[in-house]
Amino acid sequence: MDTYRHKGLRKQLVDEIRQKGIKDESILMAIDKIPRHLFMDSSFLEFAYEDKPFPIGSGQTISQPYTVAFQTELLEVREGDKILEIGTGSGYQACVLIELGAKVYSIERQKKLYTRTKELLPNLGYNPKLFYGDGNLGLPTFAPFDKIIITAGAPIVPDKLLGQLKIGGSMIIPLGKGSSQIMKRIFKVAENKFTETEHGLFRFVPLLNHKAND
Ligand code: SAH
Repeated sequence: MDTYRHKGLRKQLVDEIRQKGIKDESILMAIDKIPRHLFMDSSFLEFAYEDKPFPIGSGQTISQPYTVAFQTELLEVREGDKILEIGTGSGYQACVLIELGAKVYSIERQKKLYTRTKELLPNLGYNPKLFYGDGNLGLPTFAPFDKIIITAGAPIVPDKLLGQLKIGGSMIIPLGKGSSQIMKRIFKVAENKFTETEHGLFRFVPLLNHKAND
């Protein structure tokens, strides 16, 4: 259920994220609209609108709203963009992209999370294409993508994903082997030709290899 109280808390969250530097009004509108508390366990309802990451089971987290907004801003989403997300998790980031008019494909390696999110999102009116598997491999049958967003800390840039990006497309990836990662935007300038920019330090749960079964 989405109450007036939740809506009020979301407005405060949007103000906080705006103060932290997010300027894109369409992203702020998406955060204002999406009932984040419904993506989390009910016992965490009180915390849903703090600008913090939160546990969602299977040792994973729903990303901090500011981080979701920051990565989304770097993606420069255009209406109709075909976007691949690695790390579906709660599905919240996927819903933000859908609100911006993107066609979203998202991969999750934890079966439980995949199953839960696949059930939840249609009930909220969101219909991304969800896949259970290893995101490092991408989705060769649906490639190429306009954009790719990785929402787990990647030790290296998965080269299969670079191959599935359109020329002129970009990938947003938190890159690093340790507990924090550098947010990078990688542009595909031509086949096998890339340029990149750096956008500060973040902390993500790790991007792992192979799909899990728990
Ligand atoms: N985007 C999510 C946040 C996810 S946290 C949200 O909006 O809630 C990172 C997620 O990446 C976790 O759910 C984790 O299980 C998943 N993950 C880690 N390694 C992966 C891989 N190789 N392929 C797909 N998903 C992966």
